[in-house]
Amino acid sequence: MKIEEVINDSLNKLLEVKTEDSYTVESVYYRGDTLCVSSQVGCPVRCSFCASGKDGLYRNLSSSEIINQYLLAKEDGLEIKNIAFAGIGEPLLNWKNVKEAFWYFKEQGLKCSFYTTGFPIDNFKELLNLPHNGINVSLHAVFEDKRKQLIPHGHPIEDILAALKDHLDTLSNRKKKMYNIAYLLIKGINDSKEELERLAEIAQKLGIGVSLLKYNEIERIPYRSTSDEEYEKAFLFLKEKGIKVTLSNRYRTRKIGGCGTLMVNRLKSAKGG
Ligand code: SF4
Repeated sequence: MKIEEVINDSLNKLLEVKTEDSYTVESVYYRGDTLCVSSQVGCPVRCSFCASGKDGLYRNLSSSEIINQYLLAKEDGLEIKNIAFAGIGEPLLNWKNVKEAFWYFKEQGLKCSFYTTGFPIDNFKELLNLPHNGINVSLHAVFEDKRKQLIPHGHPIEDILAALKDHLDTLSNRKKKMYNIAYLLIKGINDSKEELERLAEIAQKLGIGVSLLKYNEIERIPYRSTSDEEYEKAFLFLKEKGIKVTLSNRYRTRKIGGCGTLMVNRLKSAKGG
């Protein structure tokens, strides 16, 4: 594996890493201490808003290929304290290799957080019990039909929330702070008052926060981003309901900083297209 290209902007570094068999995956370095790594080439979950999943899965990355993204970034002079399994792919669908990489990173003293759709649920339950440093459960919809539209391959919302609740009930309030619901706000799709109300209810019931993400528009995908005003309005709506809401950080909203939805924009050399 080797770094093929490094693209810099003032806040992030995007590393295009080429595998031995000529696929390109991407890692994003942000906040001056965090590396977001990919776990698969393409993604079988095929979320309709995400360019990574547009063409499905090409193949899983091996544990060494996941670890090598870190080693190559380190060799490139980057100081890394945190690993986010938030790049291309659903970590739970390459679970054996992701777990091996996870334990390697932990042995190096790195903190590891995850973004996951919770699919498959048995692996999700196992993840909840690992010594991770944060899990963002990518819900993105609060009603089943909408979730099917956005995340076609996954478990029913209620199953994921039930597994999460069972786990959270065993934790102290301090530990619950490591968990969030990730909600990608898409204009006219999942941003109605009714949906935000339901989202607030879910977060309240679980006793965890919401990571409200602003959608970055992607070529070939027809969804639209909310305006800054609409985004702020949704944020205030949830906040007024007493929910701890975090907004997309300024790193994520940059052109090369949007783990998951943006980096995959550039998954072009995988099949020559
Ligand atoms: S958002 Fe995540 S799970 Fe969904 S297709 Fe993209 S990479 Fe896969």
